[in-house]
Parts: sequence; structure tokens; C-alpha cells
Amino acid sequence: MQIIRSVSEMKAFSEKLFREGTPTVFVPTMGYLHEGHASLFRRAKQVHPVLIASIFINPIQFNSREDFEKYPRSEERDLEILKREGVNIAFLPPASEVYPQQPGIRISYPALTEGKLCGATRPGHFEGVLHIVHNLFLWTKPAAAVFGEKDYQQFLLIARMAQELDLGVTVYSAPTIRESDGLAMSSRNARLSASGRREAIRIFHALSLGKNGMDSGSSLDEVRQAMLEPLQPLKVEYADIFHPDTLTPLQERAEEYLLAVAAWVDGIRLIDNFLIRKPH
Ligand code: AMP
Repeated sequence: MQIIRSVSEMKAFSEKLFREGTPTVFVPTMGYLHEGHASLFRRAKQVHPVLIASIFINPIQFNSREDFEKYPRSEERDLEILKREGVNIAFLPPASEVYPQQPGIRISYPALTEGKLCGATRPGHFEGVLHIVHNLFLWTKPAAAVFGEKDYQQFLLIARMAQELDLGVTVYSAPTIRESDGLAMSSRNARLSASGRREAIRIFHALSLGKNGMDSGSSLDEVRQAMLEPLQPLKVEYADIFHPDTLTPLQERAEEYLLAVAAWVDGIRLIDNFLIRKPH
């Protein structure tokens, strides 16, 4: 595995591969890697054999300095995992090169963020995500990239950005990997206390009850109510059923939908969702 720690070196390397006609696949991460990330690497390897993975904790997508500072980090362990998973190029750019100046330009997608899911309560978050992913795509020049369904709104925004700005990157999604009790894996789970870890499972229970309600023909109001019950003790940001393409709350029962929850446990904001699509 080659480790690249500068933007200029990454650009030179990806341009060389591009000129040689070697397509690459890219998986961006913020590190503190877990099985969820590993599953994206495995999916990516099926798309193209040359895999670039990045580790960069993007300061401009955090809503508080504290959240950024407390984000878990472990570079040595991460590099071991990247090696073990067959990543070919590990890209770890320094913040000083990623943001030589405070970015003035904003890449925003108001129709899919304003008042919608995480966009409603995290001002500037998705602009920060789109900015870094756009630049990482420029620097790594991949033919394809893989993102987790766990962050479904993020995946949708990036897929739309790649398409509308014609970035030449095919964006794939990969399913959410869970702990044995159903909790979605997340680097942030490492910050949960033992009691917080027990409380966090309420999010999966809410989604499961929502899905059961949809399967058994309950009304949308009943489904929404059923989702809220297990979440009772938590501070809930949203727990709802959405249209998977527009992210508007579902108005009538449909075959395709997104059940999604954001809630706080131990002062940590956790998100999860079930995406229900018809087999095509
Ligand atoms: P992060 O390091 O949290 O920014 O995540 C990097 C990528 O891994 C994103 O595309 C996430 O959606 C994805 N990811 C995070 N957690 C999971 C999970 N439990 N299962 C699958 N993918 C995940």
C-alpha cells in the first residue's frame, strides 16, 4: 500500500494512472475505521481493482469545535485496516494543504438540505461535505466512488453533485453494517458510555417498528407514532418517513420510502435509516 500525504503528490499519481487508462475507485472516510468502512472497501474493489481511500477529518463540516476535537482518531490502527483490506493508495492530506485559505466558495444543494433531515439542524454541514468531496474527487480522479447508505442524505447529495457537475465519477452506495444488536456502526459510537450504548439501540428499534408498521399496512400517522415510542427518553431531531428521492415527508403510503432517525445519546448525535426500494 502506498501512503500519500500531500495533495500535489496525489494529483501527480492520479493523473499518471488516468493517462495510463487505469480506472480507480475511491472511498473517502474520516478514519477511526470499522466494519462499515471495510464493507465499502470490499464493495469498491468489485467495481475497480485499484482502490484509493482517504482519511481526513474535515473541519468545515462540523457544527461545533468540540465535536471536531472529540472526533475519535487512530491513524496507526486505520493504516493497518486499510492495508488488510487491500487498499492500494491511502491518501492522508494535511489540513493546511486541503484548506490553504478559509473557503469562500460554497457548494450547496438547497432543495435537498433546507429544512430536510440533517440539513434542518446542521447549517453548513452539507456544504462542507460537498466541498471536500468535490476537491477529493479532483485530486484522486476516480472513475467511481462508494458511499454508505448509513448517511443516505449525504450519498444522495454527492450522487447529484457528481451527475449535475459532470465530474466523471460514478457514485455507488453500499448497505449499512450493524452491530449484532442492530446498532449502526459509526466512529462516534466509540464515544458512548456503557449506558449510552444501551440507550442507542432505541434508534434501531424505532426504525424496526416503523418498518413493521409499513409492512402491516398501518397509516402513516400510526407508523410515525410507533417510531417515536421507543425513542421517548432521547432528544429526537427527526424520526419520520420520507420520499427517498426528494427527502420530503411521505404524504401517502408508497412502496419506496426512507425511514430515518436522528437522536442524541450521551450528548452525541446519532443517525440511522432504513431505505426501502423495490427490486428493479
Ligand atoms: P465517515 O468516516 O463516518 O465519514 O464515513 C465514511 C463512509 O463510510 C461514508 O460513506 C459513510 O456513509 C460510510 N459508513 C459509515 N458508517 C457505516 C456503516 N455502519 N455501514 C456502511 N457504511 C458506513
